[in-house]
Amino acid sequence: MATIETVSGAIEAEDLGPTLIHEHLLARDEAVHAQWPDAMTLGGNPPAEIEPGGEYGAAVEAGKAAVELGIRSICDPTAMFLGRDVSFMARVADETGLQVVPCTGIYTYDHLPTFFVSRSPDQIADMFVADIERGIQGTDIKAAFIKCAADEPGITENVEKVHRAAARAHVRTGAPIMAHSRPASDTAPRQIEIFEEEGVDLSRVQIAHCGDSPDADYVERLLQKGIYAGLDRYGIEMYLPYEQRQSVAVELLDRGYVSQLFISADSCATIDWFPAEAAAQLAEAGMVKEWTIRMVPERVIPDLRERGVAEEQFETMLVANPVAWLTGS
Ligand SMILES: [Zn+2]
Repeated sequence: MATIETVSGAIEAEDLGPTLIHEHLLARDEAVHAQWPDAMTLGGNPPAEIEPGGEYGAAVEAGKAAVELGIRSICDPTAMFLGRDVSFMARVADETGLQVVPCTGIYTYDHLPTFFVSRSPDQIADMFVADIERGIQGTDIKAAFIKCAADEPGITENVEKVHRAAARAHVRTGAPIMAHSRPASDTAPRQIEIFEEEGVDLSRVQIAHCGDSPDADYVERLLQKGIYAGLDRYGIEMYLPYEQRQSVAVELLDRGYVSQLFISADSCATIDWFPAEAAAQLAEAGMVKEWTIRMVPERVIPDLRERGVAEEQFETMLVANPVAWLTGS
């Protein structure tokens, strides 16, 4: 029986249950927060907005909401540069009962510290492998998958290096890869090509954020390579409005790709990217709408059900596909 690493230890694959493949319990810049531990009460955030411990409270609230809505697990792709903190994740898992599957990897659109600029893909892979085989941040919590990213700047030299490191860590350990992509910049074809060059098993690759594309043909061309596609940003209206996301999802299901699709929201229980005022403006302008961990179980699934998606298709996307991607079986 295959097992899956979570922040609470390894579980049997059959115990993974209904899973949201892409949700964050915390998203923040670790360098900023190491230098200014009270950053969330500085830099445009009034103390009343986020009190000390507020990030933890918000994560617990998100975890409890997910469990109440029938979600048993999340994959949390919070890697380096997004504030990965597995002890924080383990406390949230412990308090909520949510199973949290952690990752290794680097979330960058281009910038890398000189530490990594001066090292080879193999040397970076060594660090990912240490997280997978030994444990993360001095704990015995092991990474279950590898995260990398490409966005508006495209496949820069640094981004390519991180992809090659992720690929080599996959080849050495068998851990699957989640690659953040940007359909508007057409990053995915080259991302997949790099994985192919490195000998990655594409049935263990998830291209995240395919659901930002309004074009089912674009996503289908990627799916034909054998990868999983994340329809995983429900609620981020500024990248693609909700109804269009649903239409693309239904179209891809009609075309028979249920065993390669994930639905999720890429929600962040808290995120430090914007000061409180700017965050409020985004919400007011409708750029994000209902963008929480509740979105998929509470709205997306019922709406898809009304559009004719069958229970066994939800079971495939929420239970079977996560197990297959994570374990290869
Ligand atoms: Zn994400």
